Amino acid sequence: VFAHLPHIPEVPIYAMMVAFSRDPSPLKLNLGIGVYRTEDGKPFQLNVVRRVERLLVNDRSTFKEYLPITGTAEFNRLSAKLILGADCPAIKENRVTTVQCLSGSGSLRVGAEFLANHYHHHTIYMSQPTYAAHLAFFSAAGLAIKTYRYYDPGTCGLDFQGMLEDLLSAPSGAIVLLQACAHNPTGVDPTLPQWEQIRQLIRAKGLFPFFDSAYQGLVSGNLDEDAQFIRLFVADGGECLIAQSYSKIMGLYGERVGALSIVCKTAEVASHVESQLKLVIRPMYSSPPIHGASIVATILKDRDMYEEWSIEVKAMTDRLISTRRQLFDALRDRGTPGDWGHIIRHVGLFTFSGLNPEQVAFMNKEYHIYMPSDGRINMAALGPKTVPRLADAIHAAVNI
Ligand code: PMP
Repeated sequence: VFAHLPHIPEVPIYAMMVAFSRDPSPLKLNLGIGVYRTEDGKPFQLNVVRRVERLLVNDRSTFKEYLPITGTAEFNRLSAKLILGADCPAIKENRVTTVQCLSGSGSLRVGAEFLANHYHHHTIYMSQPTYAAHLAFFSAAGLAIKTYRYYDPGTCGLDFQGMLEDLLSAPSGAIVLLQACAHNPTGVDPTLPQWEQIRQLIRAKGLFPFFDSAYQGLVSGNLDEDAQFIRLFVADGGECLIAQSYSKIMGLYGERVGALSIVCKTAEVASHVESQLKLVIRPMYSSPPIHGASIVATILKDRDMYEEWSIEVKAMTDRLISTRRQLFDALRDRGTPGDWGHIIRHVGLFTFSGLNPEQVAFMNKEYHIYMPSDGRINMAALGPKTVPRLADAIHAAVNI
């Protein structure tokens, strides 16, 4: 009965992972995958997470029965606090409803479905470019996708004017997806004063913000600082959605831990919204998994562990910043044509390198370096041993 189905090719990033795993070269280098790695390109685990896992194994009070549809109440409360701050009036006034979801992806997907069912405007604006899966999450829910200008290839920076113009000409009520920090794939974020201008425009036009927070802490090295602009949006009393992911910030990728928060005008609305979210989640997957949320809640509620985690986040960020500097210096030392200052200016895991698809293909063929054709480099996959090799490859590629 399925014989009529055409074969759908792998999405490019997965196709690249398959090609990488088949490449026999000992020098192969995967800069495409969007995860934080060790300097040797190996999977990275946070010490605090290992410590909690040991505690959980020995904790006789833990269980594996089903969680409620909305997940662990404690995890939800702590997640809202992490992104909105301990003193957030909206939390104190019970205007925020938070549900545990299957990582950032699941939070975005549940949020998209909720908006499609209950929000009057069915168009969502996202940055050009954006994380490829964003399109899939929102179009699967039936929302129409539009874009706003974001990245300026001329400066390898933010097209702030273009972004403001496009948001200004969006119809009132439209949803706007905003990446909280460490923009994927460009590595370009607005500054705090620019965010303030964006906030004013969004509120004045009655646009509806949906924040995607997958890298909190990995820009400044400080968890509160990276959430500052979202807090501006909540301090103004307006509504918004926030998707949070613990994949990168706690290295919990495969545990699928995340949260969707909806900031409402009143506590009564928030409680009605939560009841409606249950109707979205129940027919999708009934309830979320327990283990990853236990790890997160254990860390977030314990002052020492939270501190240990903050220090690890800072160390991860410092390594990203120092790797950017190493790559920039290596290109300067080689006299590689071009201005590579954007590598240092960009933030978070990614850099839109400015390499074109031909150069990327050349580096793949000649140097066994794997990255998407848009030239996005994952800085976290590099270390002192691999930076010189990448610099050699870029140098050769721009001279072809
Ligand atoms: N949003 C952004 C911007 C991302 O980069 C990612 C992961 N690459 C996600 C959401 C989703 O990741 P996860 O489902 O693992 O939380």
